[in-house]
Amino acid sequence: MKIVRVTAIPMSAPVPPENRHRTDLGTKVKSDATLIQVETETGLIGIGAALGSPPVVKAIVDHELAAECVGEDPMFSERIFEKMYNGSRAKPALERGVTQANESRRRGVVMEAISGVDIAVWDVKAQTLGIPLYHALGAVRSSVRGYASGGWAPGDEAEQELGGYAAKGFSAVKMRVVGRDGFSIPNCVRRVAAARRGIGPNVELMIDAHGSLEVAVAIKLARALEQYDIAWFEEPVTPDDHAGQAEVRRSTIIPIASGEREFTRFDFQDLLERRALDIAQPDVARAGGITEIRRIAALTSTYGVRLAPHAWGSGVLFAASIHVAMAAPNCHILEVTQGHMPMMWELFNEKFDIRKDGSVHAPDRPGLGFTLRADALDKFRYVDGPEYEF
Ligand SMILES: [Mg+2]
Repeated sequence: MKIVRVTAIPMSAPVPPENRHRTDLGTKVKSDATLIQVETETGLIGIGAALGSPPVVKAIVDHELAAECVGEDPMFSERIFEKMYNGSRAKPALERGVTQANESRRRGVVMEAISGVDIAVWDVKAQTLGIPLYHALGAVRSSVRGYASGGWAPGDEAEQELGGYAAKGFSAVKMRVVGRDGFSIPNCVRRVAAARRGIGPNVELMIDAHGSLEVAVAIKLARALEQYDIAWFEEPVTPDDHAGQAEVRRSTIIPIASGEREFTRFDFQDLLERRALDIAQPDVARAGGITEIRRIAALTSTYGVRLAPHAWGSGVLFAASIHVAMAAPNCHILEVTQGHMPMMWELFNEKFDIRKDGSVHAPDRPGLGFTLRADALDKFRYVDGPEYEF
């Protein structure tokens, strides 16, 4: 069975003014995604999603990746990934068993595009087998604990916002600690104290700094927050300073999480060798699709590092993340966005199965298990411009 067509469709969902959250990244005015479709000669269509600028992803798929996938059998998913990753040297790379990555494909938007194509290949492969994707990977569970990811409210309002997530049934919640209007440790401590009041002592509380602090400030903040029983401190410093992150980790009892901005197992290898993290957060639509994220999961497990996939985007990205969570033994929790994300909730005919206790359950349908609503492509037509305004 051969792949006959690979297409990329840029999509957007504008955020209405009343739902625009403000963080250090700016004010979110829309969400973007690129839908990837892989079609076989039997007429099956697999779907994937890529992070990165949609028109750029589309150009990469149209001009480079599509031709490398057409004619391949989706059952050879590892081969298709290696072909995209190694580019013109794919043949010698596989014959000799040595990675010979194409110079521009190792990281960045090209790897995001590769990730999207890989997810779609896995979807169509599992559809062909007639089993859910996580069964094709080898299932270890059929449900996973979810955590509510949000927490933008300023000052004492964090009490109500985070308390609201706990009231929905989530046993773990995450808040942002760097606001749109700057950062100060006293303000941050005040917000975290308010959040802890709101959720009580028995709900796990995580904090996320979006990789925006200096090492010394991150350490100072971590120490000030230790008394609030923080389950993890996410991206304390820039992902370009793994050594700095390791320094933060050595300086606090709070576990350190990161990985949403990293690419492939090689970025995670560096984090692991430096002992820079306790929880790895690769994004399936950025780090290398299903194929590479399972390698990352295996690698992190050798360091006793657990997996909490970053899952912030379209429904396709979330669906793929569910299957990753069900097939990686060291995955303990999955991100469930609390942001305004119509492309997550209004893209498919089928609903995500998220229970009252916050647990996320896998679909029992073949492949990813989700089909696009008839009006989806029209409704989420791409809108040019940045996702954030500052
Ligand atoms: Mg994050």
